[in-house]
This record gives sequence, C-alpha cells and structure tokens, in this order.
Amino acid sequence: MKEGQCLCGAVTFRAECSTGINACHCIQCQRWTGGGPYLSVQVRNLEISGEERVLAYHASEWGERGVCGTCGSTLFWRMRGRDYSNVAVGLLNDQSGLRVTTEIFVDRRPDWMPPFEGAEQSTEAEEMAKMDAFLAGKKA
Ligand SMILES: [Zn+2]
Ligand SMILES: [Zn+2]
Repeated sequence: MKEGQCLCGAVTFRAECSTGINACHCIQCQRWTGGGPYLSVQVRNLEISGEERVLAYHASEWGERGVCGTCGSTLFWRMRGRDYSNVAVGLLNDQSGLRVTTEIFVDRRPDWMPPFEGAEQSTEAEEMAKMDAFLAGKKA
C-alpha cells in the first residue's frame, strides 16, 4: 500500500499502486494538468479520506476526473465500470521504484516534449479502438 495527498492535505489516500507510470498526452489531460502529460499510476482498493473535498468533473461520458476542491491538485482519473483508478503520481509520498512504462496518445505529444525512452507507445486511434472495445463489452 502506498499513501499520498494533495497539495493542501485536505485529501489523503491509501491504495495498492502499480510500479508502472502511464503518461497520457491527450488534449484533455494537457488542459487538465496545465501542460501534460498526465503521469499516473494504476491503483486498486483506493481509500480516500476527505472525499467530501473532491470535485468530480466529467470531460466525457465514460470518464471522471477528480480534483481537490480546496487547492486544485489533480487527483485521479477513472472510467465508469472499471475496478481501478489512475492517480497522479506526484501525490505519492514515496515515488521510489517507479518508471514510465506506457505512453499513450503519442501523436498528441507537443513537439517540444521528448518521448519517454523505453515506454510502450500508442496513438490516439489505438487508444480509441481499445475504448470502443471496452464500451461495446459493457453494453453487450
Ligand atoms: Zn488539496
Ligand atoms: Zn489523457
């Protein structure tokens, strides 16, 4: 279990975290973070305290983004119907032993930003195809 908190400390959490970091260069993440990518770890069994301070924003019908209503820290991104969330890696108290393993929406990465060496890469079209397959499975 790893622990973390937002900038002001109103929201703290514990969760089981992946050691791989995902870098998302999609336009929504760029705007959300104020200059992407959104760097996150996949977490399960997320226990949040201060949940009443979390503001949820739906940038799309399937996704939910949470921020701290007090300090504005980006907290998590999750998709309806999935049993995991993606939590911003910078919130973790201990970031040792982690590395960027996947980099998605690479065709949206701005020209001024270099790629992450050794990370698996996928484009927007590839990610949207995965999303469509997931949503089709949900409806079936
Ligand atoms: Zn906060
Ligand atoms: Zn994104």
